[in-house]
Amino acid sequence: MALIVQKYGGTSVGSIERIQAVAERVKRWRDQGDQVVVVVSAMSGETDRLIKLAKQLQERPEPRELDVLLSTGEQVTIALLSMALTAQGCPARSYTGAQVHILTDSAHNKARIRDIDAARVRADLEAGRVVVVAGFQGIDEQGDITTLGRGGSDTSAVAIAAALKADECQIYTDVDGVYTTDPRVEPKARKLDRITFEEMLEMASLGSKVLQIRSVEFAGKYRVPLRVLSSFEEGEGTLISFEDNDVEDAKISGIAFSRDEAKLTVLGVPDQPGVAHRILGPIAETNIEVDMIVQNVGADESTTDFTFTVHRNDYAPALEILRRTANELGARQVTGDASIVKISLVGVGMRSHAGIASRMFASLAKEGINIRMISTSEIKISVVVDEKYLELGVRTLHDAFGLGQPATA
Ligand code: ADP
Ligand code: ASP
Ligand code: MG
Repeated sequence: MALIVQKYGGTSVGSIERIQAVAERVKRWRDQGDQVVVVVSAMSGETDRLIKLAKQLQERPEPRELDVLLSTGEQVTIALLSMALTAQGCPARSYTGAQVHILTDSAHNKARIRDIDAARVRADLEAGRVVVVAGFQGIDEQGDITTLGRGGSDTSAVAIAAALKADECQIYTDVDGVYTTDPRVEPKARKLDRITFEEMLEMASLGSKVLQIRSVEFAGKYRVPLRVLSSFEEGEGTLISFEDNDVEDAKISGIAFSRDEAKLTVLGVPDQPGVAHRILGPIAETNIEVDMIVQNVGADESTTDFTFTVHRNDYAPALEILRRTANELGARQVTGDASIVKISLVGVGMRSHAGIASRMFASLAKEGINIRMISTSEIKISVVVDEKYLELGVRTLHDAFGLGQPATA
């Protein structure tokens, strides 16, 4: 008998028929003797719909109230799935995040899980019931409802799996595993049977939305066996593996991209110690995360130009702050661009192979794609390009690195 945590995403619970299909799958696992905890997302489109409603009232909705609103999406699906299970003769109980004490910090809209009291879940499992838990939501120390950021149900599932020491955490979604890149952008993308934890972490952090980054971090920290599979077809999916000795040959495992980027530049800042801090300090103080940073010597050598990227949602407030700082510093000009994207090549094999960056830049140049910024680490190279080149850029690199072909052993 195994203890399995299964998570079903929005599309998988997007209609009554799909909820019934999820119930059938869950029941099959239980009938074969396993204990099953199910974590669900809101029905597809629901979280977006709720955000739109809130934005009709406040341009930047009150974070605490937004969490109260958004958490309702998952409350609907836990109840419906439990009903579907019970109707199929499978005893089940639904719980909100608060009811199973998914304790988080108080960072509304992007809260982090601190602790889970799994006793109630265990008692139900012992009594032969399937436990259905609302993903994406928790409760803070004051008893306020919190949510975990978009895609957060993945993290709920992995955290519950860690708390219960589950045998496996299965993420059921609308693709049958993790691919070399998003198959919706590159139809020639290839499904990976395994991906190392390190690469999955990098893919997720660089924008691959198949798993929320925090779910991968959790899986790493607590060594939760994690698998991504299709909720519509049978199959083995993709296992996130903790050993990387079988992937030495695969220099590049995938291409991640993020459409959520924006870039800001301040030109002609006096070139003095402390300038980077003066520019980025006020941005960080407002909890805006800065990603890539480039500093160049200005045209006259006594000044410097400074460019950095932020999440597109943070573009307007970041620009406002930067304009203020630029004034204080006597900078020449502030510019910005919210129609850029980031494309990244990821692979653990990259660290030992020279020439990957130059091949990447040459392939993009051949297609006339201008690179606006570059950043590298041991296992990734990222470039910022204009939004209109996203699809072309991803497909060009996918081809250039032979990712569509089966990996050669
Ligand atoms: P869910 O609602 O089930 O959580 P998501 O939309 O969050 O589903 O994640 C699944 C989607 O992730 C897929 O439909 C696919 O378009 C996208 N995706 C992005 N990168 C990848 C990748 N490398 N492999 C597979 N899917 C990816
Ligand atoms: N419903 C939430 C979202 O759309 C959480 C999730 O689906 O994981 O982001
Ligand atoms: Mg998701």
